[in-house]
Amino acid sequence: MSRHSRFRVETTPKGRPHLRWVRPSRVARFVAVASIAVLAFLARSSAGGPQPSRFDALPRASEKLARSIWLPECGMSIVEWRSTPSLHDETTESDAALAVMEDTCRDTFARYDAFLKAKKLRRLRDRPDVLPEISLLPGNTLLDGKSPRALNDLPTRFEAVAPGCCYWGLYVDTLNYLFLRNDPLMKDAAGALVPNPRFVRTLTHEISHILSSRLGVWDVVGYDRQHDEGLAEEFVAFMGMTFPAESSAEDLAYHRGARRQVPLAAPVATANAGAKEVPPPTTAAPSASANTAPQR
Ligand SMILES: [Zn+2]
Repeated sequence: MSRHSRFRVETTPKGRPHLRWVRPSRVARFVAVASIAVLAFLARSSAGGPQPSRFDALPRASEKLARSIWLPECGMSIVEWRSTPSLHDETTESDAALAVMEDTCRDTFARYDAFLKAKKLRRLRDRPDVLPEISLLPGNTLLDGKSPRALNDLPTRFEAVAPGCCYWGLYVDTLNYLFLRNDPLMKDAAGALVPNPRFVRTLTHEISHILSSRLGVWDVVGYDRQHDEGLAEEFVAFMGMTFPAESSAEDLAYHRGARRQVPLAAPVATANAGAKEVPPPTTAAPSASANTAPQR
């Protein structure tokens, strides 16, 4: 208890101790009222509404698929999937899109053990305990990635669980839930749907967060956010992806550039993937408010 404790131990006439409420001084009452005012102010979100709780991040009943999609290689189910209208084919459920997720899970799950050994990290369990459910949501902040209930809708959905904008993927350990960009596919120069390497990069990064948590790596070494983030990026490199995380502007240029028969820019090799910004592969800036910072 602090020195401002409102209770005092006193002795009754019969000699028994009891707790007595001590009336706070005017100054103490003013401080208490001011504290409540500050708390009330902080409890408002940046949008001016009530601050969301972490449970607001989860899909509402009306947002869930009529039937969730089980991914055997991932051991996880997709329970929510919202497409982006301007990239309909790339962001809508299809066998090809599900195959990208299954292939990524199979490849990453098969090599995570070797990765932990290479990093000299021990784990508590041989198999993950409970794996998360998945929501696929619009993530590009220049399209619909910031629209209500999308991946970067911080004010009304993710503020309680996301440290700041902007994301391509977000694994929330306290909810054991994975929120992921919605574009497993992209179109090549000929217009054919092909796996989107940036989606694979994002899912690989998130799978490191999921497996390190669910295998109990952090129960052994103690959780450290920077360590977790660094490990996820190292796993991306371990899986052979040396290009950095992209911004929304770069993502848009990749999606639209391919369609305009512009060759996909060669990956930029960097040992510090994710921390380095590269210019978009096309010269056309999508808008003045383009998000040029690489997303997490
Ligand atoms: Zn991360």
